[in-house]
Amino acid sequence: MPYEPVIGLEVHIQLATESKIFCSCSTRFGADPNTQVCPICSGMPGVLPILNRRVVEFALLLGLATRCRINPRAVFARKNYFYPDLPKGYQISQFALPFCEAGAVDIEVDGQKKSIRINRIHAEEDAGKSMHAEAYVGADETLIDLNRCGVPLLEVVSEPDLRSPKEAHAYLVSFRQIVRYLGICDGNMEEGSLRCDANVSLRPTGTKTLGTKTEIKNMNSFAHVEKALTYEIARQLDVLETGGAIEQETRLWNSERGTTEPMRSKEFSHDYRYFPEPDLVPMEVSTEWIEQVRSELPELPEQKRRRFMEEFDLSDYDARILSEDRQTADYFERVAVGSGDARGAATWVMGEVARSLNERKEPIETLRATSDHLIDLLKLTAEGRINRTIARDVFELVLESGRKPEEIVREKGWAQISDTVALEKAIEAVLRENPAEVEAFYSGREKVFGFLMGQVMRQTQGQANPQAVTQLLRQRLAEGAQG
Ligand code: ADP
Ligand code: ZN
Ligand code: MG
Repeated sequence: MPYEPVIGLEVHIQLATESKIFCSCSTRFGADPNTQVCPICSGMPGVLPILNRRVVEFALLLGLATRCRINPRAVFARKNYFYPDLPKGYQISQFALPFCEAGAVDIEVDGQKKSIRINRIHAEEDAGKSMHAEAYVGADETLIDLNRCGVPLLEVVSEPDLRSPKEAHAYLVSFRQIVRYLGICDGNMEEGSLRCDANVSLRPTGTKTLGTKTEIKNMNSFAHVEKALTYEIARQLDVLETGGAIEQETRLWNSERGTTEPMRSKEFSHDYRYFPEPDLVPMEVSTEWIEQVRSELPELPEQKRRRFMEEFDLSDYDARILSEDRQTADYFERVAVGSGDARGAATWVMGEVARSLNERKEPIETLRATSDHLIDLLKLTAEGRINRTIARDVFELVLESGRKPEEIVREKGWAQISDTVALEKAIEAVLRENPAEVEAFYSGREKVFGFLMGQVMRQTQGQANPQAVTQLLRQRLAEGAQG
């Protein structure tokens, strides 16, 4: 390709604070329209904003997790624009002095590691929501819900370091994993708690100057960001190759048509008449405060992945899957430590546990099979009291009832049969009932052994200890051949 794509992302995350950024209204999602508003967030004259301390702490957490510099002094600014969902006529944001600057997020695409630089992280308030009334009251009107006004956001601006839609996707995945680990945002793009505007331009491959970019809005999943960028790159390429010029503009992704469409010509920062917010004093962010937040930083995905590899001797692949989200990682770690069998814990969590979470569309925190249950189950297996097949049946019953594996095994009489006499009886019965297969075995068809083995397991309703059966059956067949 004679042209190289250049991409920079602007991501907004909605912070998981209880209350809004400048008032004590609730941020709870899904409440009736306009029930979570007060004079401050609805933009009444004469009121004063009070900054939510948690917002600053969350900004610092994210800044530290993405290796940013934390500015010792941050200033809120008014961004003036006029839109029905913005009752004040301005948004309180940050401009010249944001909380954090100059960080990085690491990504990996096709085994290739790369750091994407972060330009800045600033805090701001969200606007309300326009709702097209047709769906609600059947009238051709627009209604305004101000519940979202004043909900805290962090805007995270990347440098134009991404070179393909795939890298953009990987960046979003890494970024979301970090904010979820930090517990500062649920990262749900479909519900709008994570939003992304994608900036893209082309330049002749091998050159350094940036080309004219367009900005794409309105994507509500990572897959759509990737698709929209792919479409937009092809569109720009077409314009350039036919001798045209790219117009700097904002475009909307149309997911039904799979295209981007012009929305408005680009606005520049001078259009917003930014000035320092006179109702809020500049924030002094002390070193002590930064250090305190740093001490609260949880272990991050990359650190956890490496530790799992070392401590539990896991492969890179397994460690990656098990550290994908913090809850699963914690669950796995409890089972691995509690049972002393990290390998078994990994197999169970990536196998049966993952499958049941998927089937039940349930988070691991509410799964009835807790880490304690799984520890018991692994111990029962290790002690030879149940075999793997039975263990899976027990797990199913734990999932349904939340009862202890030990209890279930006792009640069902599922303890494994290792008793030699009982097993020998079952073996004799199987040999008697399958003379043709026994003969085939002696004539050299080794495969028949598996069949006979299966028959013994059936005779015992799957409760036989497979190792014991293998040993006894081999012995019995060898004796038969001699006799
Ligand atoms: P604007 O003034 O249009 O807001 P910024 O410099 O603030 O532009 O950058 C906004 C986002 O666009 C950033 O993520 C940045 O990396 C990205 N960006 C800037 N210039 C380009 C370009 N020429 N091509 C692609 N992305 C760009
Ligand atoms: Zn309020
Ligand atoms: Mg900008």
